[in-house]
Amino acid sequence: MNKTEAAKAFLEIAAQLKREGLLAETAGIVKAALRGENGEVFLAELGGAETTILERAASDEGEPMLSAFSARPDATTVLLLGGVYAPGVANTKKYLVAELDDMAQIVGLTARVARSLTKAEIARCLKGRNSCFVKGLGMLITGRSTAEAVTGAILLEKAAMTHELAKKIGGARRVPLFSAALMHLVYQKKYSKINLEEETKRSVHPPEPADAEQPERSAREQALREQIVAYGMRLTNEGVLQGTWGNLAVRLDETYMLTTPSGLDYRRLTPDDIVKVELATLGYGNQRKPTSEKRMHRDLFAARADVGACIHTHAKLCGVFAAARRSVCCISGEMKALVGEEMRCAGHALPSTKKLSKVALRALGNRNGCLLMNHGAICCGADLERAYLTCKAAEQAAGEQLGVL
Ligand SMILES: [Zn+2]
Repeated sequence: MNKTEAAKAFLEIAAQLKREGLLAETAGIVKAALRGENGEVFLAELGGAETTILERAASDEGEPMLSAFSARPDATTVLLLGGVYAPGVANTKKYLVAELDDMAQIVGLTARVARSLTKAEIARCLKGRNSCFVKGLGMLITGRSTAEAVTGAILLEKAAMTHELAKKIGGARRVPLFSAALMHLVYQKKYSKINLEEETKRSVHPPEPADAEQPERSAREQALREQIVAYGMRLTNEGVLQGTWGNLAVRLDETYMLTTPSGLDYRRLTPDDIVKVELATLGYGNQRKPTSEKRMHRDLFAARADVGACIHTHAKLCGVFAAARRSVCCISGEMKALVGEEMRCAGHALPSTKKLSKVALRALGNRNGCLLMNHGAICCGADLERAYLTCKAAEQAAGEQLGVL
């Protein structure tokens, strides 16, 4: 990595953090460090009018955040951020337990709080974890890629926000321990790997245009594939989807549905990445692997003839209710027509299981939205536009009930 490549990566990180409100004046300092293939390290403070890039040795004791590279030998990116809600946790707690499945997956059962930014404290708090809170500062995040670090920052800030806001509705509850441990293991081994491989592949060889070997597609199928990509991007840009979490599915006809692929960042999706899944068997031949929640989408299409599209998200404000195991019940005006009278919270079930379909369908009833305990939300509708509007309305209703919108 040279200085120009580092500058480009810093710009990209800054743009993503800015979209998430993590680069605002109220969100405190943001420092980023990148490690190249030969151990060279570039450091920059982001958010100012100009970004000055410094080259450092990874062993530089004058920059304590760099010791995260020795604590996490596989890390290529380290971020030190203030965050908006993170200081509330960092300054009052010794650790934060996972109250949402996505935190359990990417961070682990708990995120520790470092008492100071020293080498020993960083080593203690990053042992077996890729991120931690830092007292008086906010959060320290590492990633095997810049995208993984940015997602980590978004998620840890979300975990802190969930913990703080859930106090208004009775407090968040922890993810059942066994589920949390299992999900962390599976995520670290499986899903994040798909994305890392894809990222490396695409940075070396840009994606090839669709070739002639593509099976024949109807105009409707092509249009739906393009729609799924467009709505995925829209929900990501609007902060409703984060990283590779969440998934979209559309009923194509009586035999097939189209779904997003597993573990791929929405910013990297193309219409050819969308997977055509057989409803009866969940088979998909030699296409990309479909979302791990394909069963839930299929079961919803089977149970509800009126539903043509379904979006599963880890939306932030709905997530506060999911973590507190409460319903979003004060839904007013136009939102009622989209979502229904309330969004009930389904019981806890591991992602991708038959049990998740069962509890979700029960909580959904004939409404268009429900919450998944300690996990996220499902919103559906006759078509993708309606399902999208339901997601937005649900998030708005949750925010109004929490008094933050
Ligand atoms: Zn999920």
